[in-house]
Amino acid sequence: MEYNNLSVLLRRLYGAKIRKFCIDGGFTCPNRDGTCGIGGCIFCGERGSGEHIQKKGVAAQMEGALASAKPGEKYIAYFQNFTGTYAPIDVLKERYDAALCDGRIVALTVGTRPDCIDEDVACLLASYKDKTDVWIELGLQTESDETAARINRGYKKEAFEHAMKILSSHGVRAVVHLMAGLPGEDREQLLKTVDYVNRFPLFGVKLHSTYVSRDTELCRMYERGEYTPLTFDGYVEDAIAVLTHLRPDFWIHRLTGDSPGDLLVAPLWVRKKDPVLIEIRRRMSERGLFQGCEYRGTSYPVIEKP
Ligand code: SF4
Repeated sequence: MEYNNLSVLLRRLYGAKIRKFCIDGGFTCPNRDGTCGIGGCIFCGERGSGEHIQKKGVAAQMEGALASAKPGEKYIAYFQNFTGTYAPIDVLKERYDAALCDGRIVALTVGTRPDCIDEDVACLLASYKDKTDVWIELGLQTESDETAARINRGYKKEAFEHAMKILSSHGVRAVVHLMAGLPGEDREQLLKTVDYVNRFPLFGVKLHSTYVSRDTELCRMYERGEYTPLTFDGYVEDAIAVLTHLRPDFWIHRLTGDSPGDLLVAPLWVRKKDPVLIEIRRRMSERGLFQGCEYRGTSYPVIEKP
């Protein structure tokens, strides 16, 4: 196995095929509503990094999703759109509870920003641990505060460090989202980000290539010739570099993005996930590479898992 594939772990843990239900929790984002920024991250489109906006409540979405359930399958309830911890705590509880409506839901995962993690949120998430698997997904994208300003991320990396401390103290596992091909970044900077995340007690990593969605600031940069997306080959090599330098104990939750369908402008190769995954594995296998084979510790002190 070239890398620690999450689907292998889930099958081992639950003895079943695990499908993910992507839920729109009806949240917004402090980087859009003016709390810490306006307009959002420059790559973020109207769906807020999610696959779709739903007009239905969480319970109705779960009912619809479970209607297509197949015998023997189990499910992850994933709050994907916008910032899944950005609401009063009682609202969060109500929506998370609504998602955990069936014994076949074996995990609750919530996508959010590090600056939307506090003690109350961590306590609430930890309270589900007796009932189900729980993890939080933090959209870091890069360790560089310079790039963070360029992409209008709206927080500095200290916020990520603070969030990790809170989550660790409550025993809530965290997955970090990283992006290759961010404006102004090259493979060297991507590997600095890998070195940075290697110091944290993460459950896993999601990586994808930066893509241009319609009606975003990144799209305007692309149209002005100020941004060039990665090629298929460039991304495959970036992903291999990330995997080989990543800590060997992290789980890989994803190596491709959920391209925004009709809103995708470029690069068009991101529409098809399988060729990307096949090529990453093929090249790694051919070269005798595997996750962590280039990991030599980190230039930061490693913070071990609780
Ligand atoms: S933090 Fe997430 S939801 Fe908010 S603007 Fe950035 S990508 Fe979009």
